[in-house]
Amino acid sequence: MLPEEVTNMKSNPPRVREDVTRNHIPCNLCGSQENHPYCPENGLGLVECDNCGLVFVSPRPDAHELYALYGETYFHNDESGVVGYTNYIKDEPNIRQTFNGRLNWLERYIERGKLLDVGCAVGFFISEAQKRGWQVQGMDVSGFAVEYASDKFGLDVRHGSLETLDYPEGAYDLVTMWDVIEHVPDPRLYIQKAVSLLRTGGVISLATPDVDSLPAKLTGKRWVGFKLSEEHVYYFSARTLSKMLEDSGCEIINVRHVGKFVTMRLFLNRLGMYSPIIAGALGLLERAFKLSEKSLYINPYDIVAVTARKK
Ligand SMILES: [Zn+2]
Repeated sequence: MLPEEVTNMKSNPPRVREDVTRNHIPCNLCGSQENHPYCPENGLGLVECDNCGLVFVSPRPDAHELYALYGETYFHNDESGVVGYTNYIKDEPNIRQTFNGRLNWLERYIERGKLLDVGCAVGFFISEAQKRGWQVQGMDVSGFAVEYASDKFGLDVRHGSLETLDYPEGAYDLVTMWDVIEHVPDPRLYIQKAVSLLRTGGVISLATPDVDSLPAKLTGKRWVGFKLSEEHVYYFSARTLSKMLEDSGCEIINVRHVGKFVTMRLFLNRLGMYSPIIAGALGLLERAFKLSEKSLYINPYDIVAVTARKK
């Protein structure tokens, strides 16, 4: 996982340089070359496919360049990695509680068995799953995160991406990808690869910002999904993500919008992006009653989780 807090708090990720060749990208969902600008005022260079509605960055550097720009310096720069994850790690109790909520509903669809978490960050999700009896493995593009998960929790985690790591096909009951698919240059290939690791009847679950959600529509260029995600290359909706999973040989079994436990402090910080006046007033209460570290469950209904079963 590339948690939004992690990506947000990393020290300025390198921006795409002017001298890098940028190519027009065909739609990764339907292959169409036809598209039109999408929310151009946010300055992210997004287009929406005329045919299927997938939203993505185009033109953009090819995958190799993207990895060179974001991958190497962004994910493997030890200092920025540590800075970002320091904040994420501080939020451990809330993140674990959030993930337990996800396991509660996932376990309605699949019995505990072998789980692979793609983009596992520092391992909070698989650590919680392990406590519940899952046999867990994880992988992440961040060397720092993988080392932390291994050293701190003794988890079976590997450093790399799905394209480069060699996991056994048909071996897993559950594959999860929290906040990953929006970052990868070829999500179709990534999903196909993930599905190939599942046994028949196994379950895959992905969570990603929902570009068709009401908060996204209402807040336009100020949507937190845009604000926190300058390195996202794809913006899915429940519909486009479901279609991609169906194309990869799965049937959709659940679509839901997922929230998370956050501290009051973080909640007010986010609220301030939309409504500084309300956030300011609540901030006074927060300080008066010392609520900063109190947790609450927030669900703005703009992160969609699509769960599907391999046919
Ligand atoms: Zn399309």
